[in-house]
Amino acid sequence: MKCPFCAFRETKVLDSRMTESGDVVRRRRECLSCEHRFTTYERVEEIPLAVIKKDGTREPFDRNKLLNGLLRATIKRHVPRETLENLVSDIESELRNQFKYEVSSQTIGEMVLKRLRKIDKVAYVRFASVYREFKDIKEFTQELNRLQKGKKG
Ligand SMILES: [Zn+2]
Repeated sequence: MKCPFCAFRETKVLDSRMTESGDVVRRRRECLSCEHRFTTYERVEEIPLAVIKKDGTREPFDRNKLLNGLLRATIKRHVPRETLENLVSDIESELRNQFKYEVSSQTIGEMVLKRLRKIDKVAYVRFASVYREFKDIKEFTQELNRLQKGKKG
């Protein structure tokens, strides 16, 4: 860290604290040469999460895309947007806590379904029909029946 006053390269850290959001560290430094004090802000570099699509290509994890899918699945279902935003954040932090940097779109789909099922059954089925790509109406009906029995999962 170069001193902004004299360009000397060594400083000592007087104080370090996290900002309220928790992702930026603020450090109060003192130059070892001229003794001027200054503040630096360090941000943790987030490793982007990659989603592996069915065709094997990768794309960056996009929480808006996931949220849009959920919004589509919950049209006219009175599910608060906040609930969906929390669901997306929950998945994102679960993946980060597992230190996963690559995840298949299918895994994400299943993670969504696990949670969505507890929130709204109709939205669950709508989302499942997109993510699981039911091959035919029979498969779709089986899933519906499973839901109605309400035992599985
Ligand atoms: Zn200096």
